[in-house]
Amino acid sequence: MRLRTETRAHAAQTVMIVKNVPLPTDNLLLAALPAAVRRRLTADRAPVNLTVSEPLSAAGERIRHVYFPIDSFISLITPARGRGQLEIGLVGSEGMLGVPLLLDVNVSPLRAMVQGAGRAWRVDPKTLRQELAANTAVRSTFNRYLYVFLAQLMQTATCTRFHLIEARLARWLLMTRDRAHSNQFRITHEFLALMLGVRRVGVTSAASALQRRQLIRYRRGDISILDVQGLERAACACYAIDKQIYARVLGRKRRPPDTVSPSGVHDLQ
Ligand SMILES: [Zn+2]
Repeated sequence: MRLRTETRAHAAQTVMIVKNVPLPTDNLLLAALPAAVRRRLTADRAPVNLTVSEPLSAAGERIRHVYFPIDSFISLITPARGRGQLEIGLVGSEGMLGVPLLLDVNVSPLRAMVQGAGRAWRVDPKTLRQELAANTAVRSTFNRYLYVFLAQLMQTATCTRFHLIEARLARWLLMTRDRAHSNQFRITHEFLALMLGVRRVGVTSAASALQRRQLIRYRRGDISILDVQGLERAACACYAIDKQIYARVLGRKRRPPDTVSPSGVHDLQ
């Protein structure tokens, strides 16, 4: 098992990640593409290193780069005028930043910020669009990811409206664990409240409840997940639903590119 310790300081939060879950060696979306396509997309360059709190895109601005995280992860945030902001998604090695390009739009509707430091492949938007236009197998892979991304957004909308803070916090901690590849991370109550779109006191109460159930340990911003299965039971169903959708649509063995239908779309079941 590979271990790595990182410490980053930034304004309100310090993120310390002790890597105690095996690190991914690649981005799963890129790994699903034919080798030649992948070489053209990455232009044979090495991955870039992303740092905590680094802004990658702003709402309403042109998309300059597409990112495919390896062991980094990225928060997708919607600004809510006069009400702060709300995190509506996390992207790690399972996904990509730059989904509007799949719909032929080169403007980001969201703010994106690095939440976990690490490596990512950086791809030129024009090159991605060329590959999408030229290759139905490539389009098929990205269409499937687009479906997963939209389904997860819909799930998050339901979650934010109907589910209790304690269950949502458990879901968020598990999502972060999956993308940080670590059971330990450091994050302030203020930042958690921002991410969940609730007041700080609500996060304090929910974190205390999870701690009393011995699912997590929370000390001065250091979060340790003590019982993964217990935390999964404490989380709302959204966590499991997200994983099921991903496994059903993107997790099965890929067909060879030459058997893809002319439309480039596989059955989704
Ligand atoms: Zn939920």
